[in-house]
Amino acid sequence: MTKGGAARYSSDMTPRQTLPLFTLCALLLVACTSGLVALEAGASGHTVNSPADTTTPLPTIDVPPTPTAEAAPGLGQVTPSLPSPTPYPDDERFLIGESVEGRPIWAWRLGDGTQRIVLVGGIHGSYEANSARLAELLANHFRLHRADVLPGIQLVIIPAANPDGLAYQGDDPDDLRGRFNANGVDLNRNWGCGWAEEATLRDIPVDPGPRPFSEPETRALRAYFLAEPPEAVIFYHSQLGAVFMGACGAEHPAATWMGDLLEDATGYPHRNFTYYEVTGDATNWLAERGIAAAVVELSTRTDPEFTRNLAGVQALQCYIALAKGPDDGPNESFEQAIGRLCR
Ligand SMILES: [Zn+2]
Repeated sequence: MTKGGAARYSSDMTPRQTLPLFTLCALLLVACTSGLVALEAGASGHTVNSPADTTTPLPTIDVPPTPTAEAAPGLGQVTPSLPSPTPYPDDERFLIGESVEGRPIWAWRLGDGTQRIVLVGGIHGSYEANSARLAELLANHFRLHRADVLPGIQLVIIPAANPDGLAYQGDDPDDLRGRFNANGVDLNRNWGCGWAEEATLRDIPVDPGPRPFSEPETRALRAYFLAEPPEAVIFYHSQLGAVFMGACGAEHPAATWMGDLLEDATGYPHRNFTYYEVTGDATNWLAERGIAAAVVELSTRTDPEFTRNLAGVQALQCYIALAKGPDDGPNESFEQAIGRLCR
């Protein structure tokens, strides 16, 4: 069981990667609550209530916009209201790090199973903003529909892996600036597998950073993956309209089953990435560590393509839940959930 907020898992991170704030948090939960709020103190937004301090009103923080059901194609079945007047119980959303410009990188934790599936959007910023939008919509869906997380499964959703890039709004949708972080680094060329000093997007040179994991965003994601190793990971990108499995040299054992499963569920074809050499890719680094990891490329850079990707996540949950079984042994509620959600 790995349920817990930032205060808990920060103790698993290496000292060099641990924010001073989180060290403080590990010592004192109340300080954590106050500290996280202080990160964005002064901004207006939702009020965050904390079970650790139910008597003192907390300041407000600015939270990422929560997508509404009306705004999302394919969400017709979702009630367009939030499930609770307390939007964020303290173990439901946690901070995994900060960007170059100090923007928070948030993660949602939904479900309390031991088999963890991590979904990451927005590593290429506003250039692929629909991938961040998709991850937000998925987080919102599972917050509104708790029973759609299978017993034994825990979903961790990181909608905005590159918040500085997402914050960049240029006039030209093909402007690559929004793809990079505030140092101008392509965060999906900055990981450890096959990192190279010269990296490209197709035939366009991009900056991979001065060394692997030179950037705070990739360090934060790496620290999180090492602290809470997942069963499977999906990084959402756009716009190749295909599924690609991570591999660092040798093919990962999951390459076939997970790629084919996602193809069947989403309709994106499972392909080998042969277009050009990609260095320092996140899913390749995960595969090198024995973690099943896929890139799902949406078909355009505008539509979040929610419905087909929800189907992909559900198929992945079903596969892992059925392979591993429920945490507390065979039981009726597990069978019912499988019967309801799995083909
Ligand atoms: Zn991308």
